[in-house]
Amino acid sequence: MKETYCEWCGSVLLENGRCPIEDCVQNVILDALADAEGEHTTEDTKDTKDETSTNA
Ligand SMILES: [Zn+2]
Repeated sequence: MKETYCEWCGSVLLENGRCPIEDCVQNVILDALADAEGEHTTEDTKDTKDETSTNA
């Protein structure tokens, strides 16, 4: 099994690609990316719902 090291602090990354150091930049970046994607998806779903009720 190949271990991946955090490029910020050098810790061995977890299986999901996160750094074991909760405050590490690696996690901040991952969270920001997930946040951007999640926000978009949530907004999209909400928009669709709103549109339906507004049109009706
Ligand atoms: Zn790290």
